[in-house]
Amino acid sequence: MYSSVSTAMVVGSAGHAITVEVQVASGLPGFHIVGRPNGVVREARDRLRGAFYSSDEPWPKTNTTLNLVPATEIKTGSALDLAMAVGILIADGHVDPAAVRGLAFIGELGLDGSIRHVLGVAPMVAALGPVDVVVPSGSHREAQIAAQGEVRTADDLPQLLAVLRGLRPWPDPPPPPPTQLHDDLRDLQDVHGQHVARHGLEIAAAGGHHLLFVGPPGAGKTMLAARLPGLLPPLTDDRSLEATMIHSAAGMPLPAGGLVTQPPYRAPHHTASRAALIGGGSPSLWPGEVSLAHGGVLFLDELAEFTPSVLDGLRQPLELGTISIDRAAVRATMPSAFQLVAAMNPCPCGGGPPGTCMCSDGERLRYARRVSGPLLDRFDLRVPVARPGAHDLLDGTPGESTASVAARVRRARALSIERQGTLNAVLGARRLDEHAQVDEAAKTLLYDEISAGRLSGRGYHRLRRVARTIADLRSVHSDEPVGIVVADDVALALAMRTPLGTSSSGWAV
Ligand SMILES: [Zn+2]
Repeated sequence: MYSSVSTAMVVGSAGHAITVEVQVASGLPGFHIVGRPNGVVREARDRLRGAFYSSDEPWPKTNTTLNLVPATEIKTGSALDLAMAVGILIADGHVDPAAVRGLAFIGELGLDGSIRHVLGVAPMVAALGPVDVVVPSGSHREAQIAAQGEVRTADDLPQLLAVLRGLRPWPDPPPPPPTQLHDDLRDLQDVHGQHVARHGLEIAAAGGHHLLFVGPPGAGKTMLAARLPGLLPPLTDDRSLEATMIHSAAGMPLPAGGLVTQPPYRAPHHTASRAALIGGGSPSLWPGEVSLAHGGVLFLDELAEFTPSVLDGLRQPLELGTISIDRAAVRATMPSAFQLVAAMNPCPCGGGPPGTCMCSDGERLRYARRVSGPLLDRFDLRVPVARPGAHDLLDGTPGESTASVAARVRRARALSIERQGTLNAVLGARRLDEHAQVDEAAKTLLYDEISAGRLSGRGYHRLRRVARTIADLRSVHSDEPVGIVVADDVALALAMRTPLGTSSSGWAV
């Protein structure tokens, strides 16, 4: 008359273990789900009834109560369907409770009795711990990533019940998918010319600096940004697991090996909603772009076209590397540590070839101000990108390859980690004098910039971090020991801070 079956749900990118208790008691027919079910969970009654009917299983004729434990959390999603069905059949005396000992069930039921894939199988299985888990066969590989016990599969309710009743063995797991050929063909050697922008990309990769490309449409900003992940090292084990859970929860296809090991690249359109960008677009709080980009690159093209309130959502991830979402009493915190790359036109008309822009200084300033000062302030690098010249386009010489630039990036990153334990972009202001010392000539240059009002206090710190990365890359390039920051490093860092807002002087942010 009573049963208890293990299952799980996903909220944000984290799984939560749930127990379904079922009591089938005498009394008038009725069906109640308690334990804070949301709409999707309440609708399970109709899915279950249809599945029972199609599978020739009897629907309980008396009073049936399902209790979802723990009672404090709101239950969301259709992954609980399968555990509810099994729990009802046990409580109603049609399946032996011993058959489900040490098993957990994840899957949505169709009216035809089929067991369907749900989002977030990997985090759900992770939350269940050391048990054997039953999932739809399409979820086998995803479950295996996180499983501590055996992963069993079933395609439909009759097949599952036949196993639980000892009439047949567990079906064989589906064969692993064919290994995909590496289809990431985005290599830096396809970028012709663009020396300044390429250099900016290399500095961004080596120091972990957020990067803004400023240039007219057609200058190749998107092409450049898409090549940043190739310059970054593979994800650490922790990051890889976090990214995999996020991709699973969002229903994104996982790579052939199962785990997300390479830095992701996400490029949401400027019409993206706040929920799409930061997450929370469903009752189970789907991960947004900031989390899908975790460990990799978030690229925002046409930055000035994004809705300001949407961009405002970037504040927490940029500060903390996580995003917290709170919707209708459901709360999730998801990892969202990404490197931000953005692109914008220099002015409303897009700039275009020199001399063609007719925008006034006022129009340019208004355009730049569509992006908030605090967000612009996040970009250590503001790199000008010009349309490639005729010479660059016609000259067939390929640019330097991703592999060769990535090798320098790797060495430069190792230098900063060895020296200070972090990448230069996050080196604290108080540690700059210790780890990013400047020589006298560099000091003079910095002094002049500050005196002329072209460099604010915060800008000064950012500039020194970038100059530190440039000095590290310089020593990697010349194979010389790392020294202190010299005037040339500072001058290059200044060149990577193209002014925004006016044609002549620019702002000092
Ligand atoms: Zn213009």
